[in-house]
Amino acid sequence: MERLHLLLVGIDGLRLDLATEDRAPHLRGLMARGTTTRMTMPVPTISGPGWATLLTGASHAEHGVVDNTFVGSRLAGIPDLLSLAYYADPTRTTFAAAAWPPLVDPAGVGPVIHTREEQRRAERHRVIVRDGETYGYRTTDAEIADFAVAGLFAAGPDVSFVYCSGVDEAGHVHGAVSAQYAEAVRRTDAHLGRMLAVVDHRAQAGERWLVAVTTDHGHVGGGGHGGGEPEVTASFVVRASWNAEVDPWPDEIEPTELTPRLLRALTPEALRG
Ligand SMILES: [Zn+2]
Repeated sequence: MERLHLLLVGIDGLRLDLATEDRAPHLRGLMARGTTTRMTMPVPTISGPGWATLLTGASHAEHGVVDNTFVGSRLAGIPDLLSLAYYADPTRTTFAAAAWPPLVDPAGVGPVIHTREEQRRAERHRVIVRDGETYGYRTTDAEIADFAVAGLFAAGPDVSFVYCSGVDEAGHVHGAVSAQYAEAVRRTDAHLGRMLAVVDHRAQAGERWLVAVTTDHGHVGGGGHGGGEPEVTASFVVRASWNAEVDPWPDEIEPTELTPRLLRALTPEALRG
């Protein structure tokens, strides 16, 4: 049976309640097509520990990432979603693209997604890095999306992680309840829409795809995160599939469950649908 391809899209700092139909038609369309599962992120609701947990399945205590400096990180010994998929089946190809260097940059802190240099040289693993912290996410998210669209279109990797942070950036500068945050949601949703068009195209040729979208935290109305406010701890997983069934999940899962559950969805037993 044709294997299932997984595309996980990370949208940093996205409040689902502020990703309304008029702002995020592609994400809302994905929700209508598939299912939405709640997650509550643990405190501190900071990107480093949040993504480290979402992308590995390890708790804050286990991975040791407490902030965005990654001092104390034990991630070198904790494989990420893409690495785990590869170790489970070395014929799998993987792709990661992000403009927040700690997630993917081989030369940076972390990275959360292991570089796997050997597989990278063998073109079984591809990493795209931009620096949104220096050049701004408005530009770099668009570049990441371009690379993602091209990479998905050309190769249809088995497991991909694509990350955008323009929404988080707008939240920090202008607050979550701002025209700029809304505009950043629109831009990011357009990036998602371009990726979904490629998935759709590949699925029409018979490929099986699962797309999941998640976030690491929200933002308070005035902007900012790190604490335990409900609008900050609220996360979600939107999942939809092409030529496959979405396996049933409870209404709410723990953030540590995301990676193991996505990996399970890739196994032949889960592909009966
Ligand atoms: Zn974040």
